[in-house]
Amino acid sequence: MKFTEFGLNEDLLEAISYMNFEKASEIQEKAIPEIMKGHDLIGCAQTGTGKTAAFVLPTLHKIAEEKTKGINTLVVVPTRELAMQIDQQIQGLAYFTHTSSYAVYGGGDGVSWEAERRALSGGADIIIATPGRLISHMMNDYVNFSTVKHLILDEADRMLDIGFYDDIVNIISKLPKDRQSLMFSATMAPKIRKLAKEILKSPIEINLAVSKPAAGVTQKVYLANESQKTPLVKDILADKDNFKSIIIFCSTKKKVEQLTRVLKNKRYSVAGVSSDYEQEIREKVLLSFRARTTRIVVATDVLSRGIDIKDINLVINYDVPNDPEDYVHRIGRTARAETKGLAITFVNEDDMRKFQRIEEFIEIQMEKLQPPEHLGPGPQWMQASPKNIRNGKRPWSKNKPGFKGKKGNAPRHQKPSPKK
Ligand code: AMP
Repeated sequence: MKFTEFGLNEDLLEAISYMNFEKASEIQEKAIPEIMKGHDLIGCAQTGTGKTAAFVLPTLHKIAEEKTKGINTLVVVPTRELAMQIDQQIQGLAYFTHTSSYAVYGGGDGVSWEAERRALSGGADIIIATPGRLISHMMNDYVNFSTVKHLILDEADRMLDIGFYDDIVNIISKLPKDRQSLMFSATMAPKIRKLAKEILKSPIEINLAVSKPAAGVTQKVYLANESQKTPLVKDILADKDNFKSIIIFCSTKKKVEQLTRVLKNKRYSVAGVSSDYEQEIREKVLLSFRARTTRIVVATDVLSRGIDIKDINLVINYDVPNDPEDYVHRIGRTARAETKGLAITFVNEDDMRKFQRIEEFIEIQMEKLQPPEHLGPGPQWMQASPKNIRNGKRPWSKNKPGFKGKKGNAPRHQKPSPKK
């Protein structure tokens, strides 16, 4: 479907053509007409599908038509990075209009607080905000939401995972009742349906094929012991000179630190990103990664969702993500806008069960590769099946005899230690 068929105003069509969007993506084709009609909507779509433009374009169209004063649209998002990214897309698409937007995410200094205060007093048409920072501002009486006509919750599932439920409900309670509300989420988990029921009025539901990695990603899995992972990264990178943008996800800040150091010593162009780093440094790293000045970013999952960096050639999951949806989001960094990408995941013995859940979730069983011979053998894959478990074979070592896990995790045949 062509963008000209939506009835969007000329200024927006001009921006779309400057951005080289030739035809609407599936979510855009389905969502834009419904949003234009004024319906509430719940859209189940992952990042990389063009969902941002799907809600930004009709919103910008309405703002141009309605010629409202004060804040017209509030977009609530889980992370600062996503807030900045949506703001950038709005600025691009609104280039030929007179619409203004402001991202409110904090982490900055008094200067940014002051600028945010002005925007929230009615100085911007669109506010894109993270819940925590927005709530901090809302403690003051300058926040003026009386003119809000559109509410958008993006990556709603992520916001609930982080624990923003009460904040979101609190924010929404301060908005005018007469408004259009849109909610986007990568999944339709029961908690999302509950939130949708509370805030949306007779919503149109749009479901894209959810939680499947974008077509075009080649997925590989290595069974690797913890001590083999760093040598394996070096091995993989050794013959990937033509891969210009690479992200490596680790489960902890410490691993990010260590791996970044190892790769720096190997003279790779590499930077680390985790929540330990100051916001300003995180932004700098992202900028230089986008500009292809930094080739490799090692990150915890602050980067896993929603961040739009084009043409990442390779994602390495140094550790298996806890949440199957995170796996999809991470490898969604590659193969965006229909390009090809490679995603490699390292699975150690402890993570086999977790990885099996991912395979069940995406409904793909992957070939499990052994590390190259010179790194020695990795662990053997063991499928968690009722038979294996009955026979005492535990595919995840936490349940092996002797594991001193949390209360309740202890294998049944292990005697409780006598009370002293
Ligand atoms: P999103 O899913 O919103 O994160 O968008 C993913 C990327 O696709 C962004 O870089 C958009 O600029 C780009 N994009 C969005 N819509 C289109 C389209 N219709 N044609 C080509 N690229 C698009």
